[in-house]
Amino acid sequence: MTKYVYTFGGKTAEGKADMKNLLGGKGANLAEMCLLGLPVPAGLTITTECCTAYYANNCQLPAGLMEDVWKGMSNVEKLMGMKYDDAENPLLISCRSGARSSMPGMMDTVLNIGLSSKTIPGMLKRTNNPRFVYDSYRRLIMMYADVVMEKSEGIEPADGKGIRKQLDDMLDEYKAAHGYKSDTDLNADDLKGLAEAFKVRVKEVLGSEFPDDARAQLEGGIKAVFKSWNGKKAVSYRKIEGIPDDWGTAVNVQAMVFGNMGDNSATGVAFTRNPATGDNQFYGEWLVNAQGEDVVAGIRTPNPLNNDTKNEQNKHMPSLQDLMPETYKELCDIRATLEKNFHDMLDIEFTIQDGKLYMLQCRVGKRTGVAALTMATDMLKEGLIDESEVVMRISPAQLDELLHPILDASDEKKHEVIAKGLPAGPGGAVGVIALSSEKAKEYRAAKVKNILVREETNPEDVEGMRAADGILTARGGMTSHAALVARGWGKCCIVGCEAVKIDFEKGLVTINGHQFKEGDLLSLNGSKGYVYAEEVKMINATENPLFQQFMQLVDKFRTMGVRTNADNPADALRAVSFGAEGIGLFRIEHMFYGENSEKPLEKLRNMILSDTREERIAALAELEPYIKESAKGTLKVMDGKPLTFRLMDPPLHEFVPQTEDKQRVVAKERGISFEEIKRRIDALHEVNPMMGLRGVRLGIIYPEITETQFRALFSATAELMKEGHDPHLEIMVPLTINVAELKHQKAIATRVKAEVEAKYGVTISYMYGTMIEIPRATLVADKIAEVAEFFSFGTNDLTQMTLGFSRDDVNAIVSEYVDEKIIPADPFNTLDQEGVGQLVQLGVNRGRGTNAKLKCGVCGEHGGDPASVEFFYHAGLNYVSCSPFRVPVARLAAAQAAITDSRKKQK
Ligand code: PEP
Ligand code: MG
Repeated sequence: MTKYVYTFGGKTAEGKADMKNLLGGKGANLAEMCLLGLPVPAGLTITTECCTAYYANNCQLPAGLMEDVWKGMSNVEKLMGMKYDDAENPLLISCRSGARSSMPGMMDTVLNIGLSSKTIPGMLKRTNNPRFVYDSYRRLIMMYADVVMEKSEGIEPADGKGIRKQLDDMLDEYKAAHGYKSDTDLNADDLKGLAEAFKVRVKEVLGSEFPDDARAQLEGGIKAVFKSWNGKKAVSYRKIEGIPDDWGTAVNVQAMVFGNMGDNSATGVAFTRNPATGDNQFYGEWLVNAQGEDVVAGIRTPNPLNNDTKNEQNKHMPSLQDLMPETYKELCDIRATLEKNFHDMLDIEFTIQDGKLYMLQCRVGKRTGVAALTMATDMLKEGLIDESEVVMRISPAQLDELLHPILDASDEKKHEVIAKGLPAGPGGAVGVIALSSEKAKEYRAAKVKNILVREETNPEDVEGMRAADGILTARGGMTSHAALVARGWGKCCIVGCEAVKIDFEKGLVTINGHQFKEGDLLSLNGSKGYVYAEEVKMINATENPLFQQFMQLVDKFRTMGVRTNADNPADALRAVSFGAEGIGLFRIEHMFYGENSEKPLEKLRNMILSDTREERIAALAELEPYIKESAKGTLKVMDGKPLTFRLMDPPLHEFVPQTEDKQRVVAKERGISFEEIKRRIDALHEVNPMMGLRGVRLGIIYPEITETQFRALFSATAELMKEGHDPHLEIMVPLTINVAELKHQKAIATRVKAEVEAKYGVTISYMYGTMIEIPRATLVADKIAEVAEFFSFGTNDLTQMTLGFSRDDVNAIVSEYVDEKIIPADPFNTLDQEGVGQLVQLGVNRGRGTNAKLKCGVCGEHGGDPASVEFFYHAGLNYVSCSPFRVPVARLAAAQAAITDSRKKQK
């Protein structure tokens, strides 16, 4: 029978750190901590495979599972010296989720399982602390009713009517009626009475009794954790993070230790280094006389772990270092042990029960891009990791985050900080206030920058957080779940900003006397926790010297080239500053859009609307100098680096006026009748212009158009050579289907080149190649490569034509397909490796079969997508080319692909 249960405890464990896929991150690391000799309460992990089996089996636990659990539990009982469901010396347990990769707060947990009318008397005797026992009991009822009896049963209560909310309200009402301020003011009798009242309410609302049988409670807890894998927030989070739905979660059943046993007990969460800045400081938060959920739920603002890391919000509160110096020292030693073992920054949970420290969890901690960079650089110096690992430690998304803007410090000084909160997520954000997740999503859909302002940090808001540009909350600590999630996404986020008061009914926010409505503007500095009432300017973070050093290291491991798609000097220079080694795609058509395009556009229109060859040649003669100047400017700034110029690939209909008014203007300008212009424009109409007179077809039908471009390009090159520059011109033909097209255009190039060389008295060298963007071209790549010196895969068109998805208007269908899991992702964003990928590989292999020196690159949008870059590396491409801002990410993805590959080969 499949082994579904793995035990741990007392310095031994059946699992270990590298068994994450089976035991989930939490289970694997609990086992590892036991093996490291750390104080971990004993327990057992039910595998992720069991979760998959549970779902495959119509939400039934596999036969025999509970017997294995009870067997595992007897080991836990032995190690803890207590017995589950025992009247004398009862053991309580927790049931926690734990997927392969962490999903903070997205699944459910039940604590204090095992309390019943049978075990409560034993607990009272053992602890001699009735307040603690009844506090634990009322917590169990609240959590169990919420997680096991409501959520996992699929009950969807009306807003504000959930059982948890109802019980919370009962607690608040009770406190108010008795003049209590804090939960800790309630005495044992209060809590006992409340627990009884809770049970009555649970029965009323949910129609069944809270189970008084400890064994039934445990089974219910296990099933509920499995169920929470498919809870709403977990599903949303997986979709955003790209975590497969079929991974499943493990369940960790672990002996409870109590942070709420009195003032000598506590619970806390810490990071072995600062997760927001990366500083090598032990950073954490804790609460006296509390259970773990109190720290991470963001309900109370917690105390600082130590004195070095106090901040505005908690500087008046005592640290663990102050109050429990010995335990703090022990925790510092554990921190060192863990970093030495895992070679990384860890996120830990601990509980102090009556002065004794226990470790409840450790996992690799989520961090901002800035922190990832700082930590990796420091760990290299400390000898914890090597250079290649530094490169692997920063994900492409984190690097992207570093490229994202921050508030301009000098402009910030000119504005008043209206409030300070905890700096939970990095960077800056300027946007309008959204008071709900729905509103944030609406703003995002309308492309309006927005800041989600909420009372407290709540993982239910995950989609709104994703949609927001920044997050601001009134309550909660740095380690609250929402802060973790925001940080993981590199989102600007401030939590625990107590000055923020929200009136949802009226849609008003007050911050230290400043009044705002939903839709009013705010600026946030997420790295410092500052809030501004006005718009503050934003700047880029790439000047960070660590970023530059890191990119040098990246290039040490990168073997594949990275170029950029650019068609003007400014973009080209920006891309070079980001490390582009050349231009992989210069689209001449871009000269006819935007600034300064009126004149060349007029000439182009004349060319398009010409009726005879003579007219066209005359129009082209006027266009040629513009093409020459456009190419020359960019060739000049790319001095010494290759520039791949693509022959015109114009959707002609886009360049002629479509409305009658505009057509009349054009007619008048040309001194031709409106009817005649209309006739010529109508003649250009194509049912599917994407498949019509595009690419090389234009140059075959009208060779004079190709000729003009060659002349302009060779002339620009000749002039630059004479001016002492070093232009590296590459010319490629778009939308090729066979070698005959290439030969046809090459003949024109050869003739024009000779003419230009004679005129300028120089010898021009250039490379002649083709785009590969029609499936047929990949099939006959062997023949095409006999003429082409290089291939540039145009994966935008190749995707369009391979999947039969029109680039212009298939978006709605694609998103539906992705939602329905018919396709894994939008194939225009991330390469369809299974299909289009095969064609790329085929094209490379066949091309190199006849031309071993064939240079191959890609210039479709996929050249800047990390997963696609990895694929192109394996396909043996020489370079990828992408838009300027994506160049650093492409460099990193290429380096990581090379490192992963060489590590695999070493194994
Ligand atoms: C392509 O098709 O991938 C390409 C780069 O060309 P364009 O996007 O200009 O059609
Ligand atoms: Mg194309």
